[in-house]
Amino acid sequence: MARRLGILGGSFDPIHLGHLRSAEEVRETLALDLVYFVPAHEPPHKPQRQLASGRDRLAMAERAIADNPAFRVSAIEIERGGVSYSVDTLAAFAARESDATLFFVLGIDAFREMQTWKDVVRVFELANVAVTSRPPHAAEPSIEHLPVAAREAFCYDPATLSFRHRTGTTLQFLPITGIDVSATAVRERARRGSSIRYLVPSSVERYVREHRLYRSGEANT
Ligand code: ATP
Repeated sequence: MARRLGILGGSFDPIHLGHLRSAEEVRETLALDLVYFVPAHEPPHKPQRQLASGRDRLAMAERAIADNPAFRVSAIEIERGGVSYSVDTLAAFAARESDATLFFVLGIDAFREMQTWKDVVRVFELANVAVTSRPPHAAEPSIEHLPVAAREAFCYDPATLSFRHRTGTTLQFLPITGIDVSATAVRERARRGSSIRYLVPSSVERYVREHRLYRSGEANT
């Protein structure tokens, strides 16, 4: 049987329990064999922001997933350099894993910005797309935010509450346990010297502390 692979992109600055729980619930619901966390080199929608280094973000993600045999970290975007477009990453996965069924996973907040993405029409040709809820937003099955060219290729299947693309891929909306954590809030707490315990795995909390990440007045704020 074709392997079912999930791909979860993001800044992961740092990876937190919201990312991990989302990946775990999507893995279970969609019976995925593996979920790849793919830290961006340069997220197109956050051009101004100074991120922690790719090395640090990869190291934190590696530590966070170390005890989950179904999770992987991919350095593909960090190694490619430049602005990280999901369409390029999905094309690379599709070429490398030609026998696999790909599921691109993102939160509803990111999905609602997809009309600004590079080659969004092609994203839906390359992979199935799974959109999760993220507090405070439910995973409403709606494609009104997509550009017309992308919308036209879908038809709605009320039986499965999902959309079918003319190429055969699906777009589905998955309610997951709401964990209202953002990396912004984690960084802000670390900057103030407040506790980030239970917002990130303990291995990540330790890494942030030992490497003095996100401290005010230091390089990675
Ligand atoms: P920042 O606060 O720096 O903007 P973030 O917390 O939104 O970061 P990202 O790395 O940008 O995290 O998110 C990567 C992906 O994970 C996106 O698809 C986003 O919707 C999803 N995601 C992030 N946090 C959560 C969460 N708490 N629950 C569900 N999905 C999440």
